[in-house]
Amino acid sequence: MSNRQVKPKTEGWTQKKDESGKPLLQFAEPKRGKPPLHLADIEPADRGATVKDLGIEAFRAKQLATHYFTHYTSDPEKMTDLPKAGREELVGKVLPRVLTEVKRLQTDDGKTIKFLWRLFDGALVESVLMRYTNRITLCISSQAGCGMNCPFCATGQAGLVRNMSAGEIVDQIVRANEIIAAGGLGKSKHEDERVNNIVFMGMGEPLANYNKVMSAIRTMVEPQPNGLGMSARNITVSTVGLVPGILKLADEDLPLTFALSLHAPDDELRDDLIPVNS
Ligand code: SF4
Repeated sequence: MSNRQVKPKTEGWTQKKDESGKPLLQFAEPKRGKPPLHLADIEPADRGATVKDLGIEAFRAKQLATHYFTHYTSDPEKMTDLPKAGREELVGKVLPRVLTEVKRLQTDDGKTIKFLWRLFDGALVESVLMRYTNRITLCISSQAGCGMNCPFCATGQAGLVRNMSAGEIVDQIVRANEIIAAGGLGKSKHEDERVNNIVFMGMGEPLANYNKVMSAIRTMVEPQPNGLGMSARNITVSTVGLVPGILKLADEDLPLTFALSLHAPDDELRDDLIPVNS
């Protein structure tokens, strides 16, 4: 007799299965075009050389980083320290708009905003901005869709569209900071209020996009103006349990916060709810 105590309510759930009836897991992303190169895709030490390859003087990399990571803008009109002639083209090469806002839903008290973003290739992702008493949290996506096929999750049922680039992951935070600075999350308590808590609990399984997620995290913790200067402890990587990724993460020299979504009190039920468990 099974000692299972809890049965999931599975009515209405659907799940993609293979020929033998096992839930399909999708680790490899379908082939799609690459997002445009963005400053946040490039390690700080390599930025000077990379912008030089694009025909831009190396010292401009720091000016652009200051605008983006400190003033949260990609708007050439606001970058008056750059020469007016050719400014738009220069900014477009290094800080292309990688997220287009499609929809914004805000709670009546103004303290929570859900964003729907379109990526360059039409893929859609979400992020959620939440004001609490002592922090501002942003729940971010790491993949468009997800290949983990958890039957209770609408994202999982759509399958994996593609991995997000580091620039796309970071831009969710910069765009949120831009909106906070413009008063979009209600009255600020102080002038330089911004997102100070990140949870990777939006679309996607972050450890299935390990390299891009870690590159984005390194930019988040890099001091301003080359990064967002966030505390690693305030960045939570949440996983359904990809063991090789967990082991790699443990070896990183970063005091990140880690969350494992169990979803079930025993292995048998977890096999149903989180197919990668088996
Ligand atoms: S890993 Fe997360 S995003 Fe992916 S299907 Fe499962 S619950 Fe949904």
